[in-house]
Amino acid sequence: MAQVILKNVSKVYQGGVKAVDNFNLEIKDKEFIVLVGPSGCGKSTTLRMVAGLEEITEGELYIGDRLVNDVPPKDRDIAMVFQNYALYPHMTVYDNMAFGLKLRKMPRAEIDKRVREAARILDIEHLLDRKPKALSGGQRQRVALGRAIVREPKVFLMDEPLSNLDAKLRVQMRTEISKLHERLQTTFIYVTHDQTEAMTMGDRIVVMKDGVIQQVDTPQTIYDYP
Ligand code: ADP
Ligand code: ADP
Repeated sequence: MAQVILKNVSKVYQGGVKAVDNFNLEIKDKEFIVLVGPSGCGKSTTLRMVAGLEEITEGELYIGDRLVNDVPPKDRDIAMVFQNYALYPHMTVYDNMAFGLKLRKMPRAEIDKRVREAARILDIEHLLDRKPKALSGGQRQRVALGRAIVREPKVFLMDEPLSNLDAKLRVQMRTEISKLHERLQTTFIYVTHDQTEAMTMGDRIVVMKDGVIQQVDTPQTIYDYP
């Protein structure tokens, strides 16, 4: 079953920049899709349209059989992780992870269960009382992932989540995100300009250029390795 469908999707920004031009893609349930391409080719815009953070100028977007063009982000069953972790500096790790669920008026016991489970998966249980400034870059990125996990979304959207980390940590987190995908068994859409990330993480890779899809295929086919 296709989990996310983009049908003839285009985005024209105010001022007339056509950032995405007639984008067509069916993303399967549990698939790990990577969007790659040079800076400015429309990757973020595409992801932000799926998230509901940018309006779609033309076309249709389905998430799990539902047309969501006019559905606000919080009702789309998605969670997004950004490169600048955007953690709340005055809140503890626990509260950073719990905040979105509290806004939704989820019962406290359920929030607590989800936060602790996510913390266990990400190995940050010992950091729950800390504020973000007392964390390393990798730990902050884990908290950002935790904040997405607790929502238990159908689709994870990630926009260059590792680009602010140093090279060593990037390699480590890359593996962790792949493991997370295996473990959660949900759909991931991951934006990067890093070929190695695309190659090692993606089930399928979408190569974009100037707002247009150039190629959609497995990493093996696209990067031609045995
Ligand atoms: P990528 O993520 O691949 O770097 P983007 O989706 O950010 O590409 O940008 C695609 C194109 O849209 C670029 O030409 C960029 O300058 C333009 N763009 C992005 N955001 C806006 C905006 N808010 N207003 C106008 N143009 C934008
Ligand atoms: P609030 O942040 O809304 O004031 P409370 O501090 O009253 O929430 O905590 C509610 C529940 O959340 C507690 O029973 C506890 O289990 C859990 N909790 C809150 N903060 C932490 C924390 N830093 N570490 C571990 N558990 C916490």
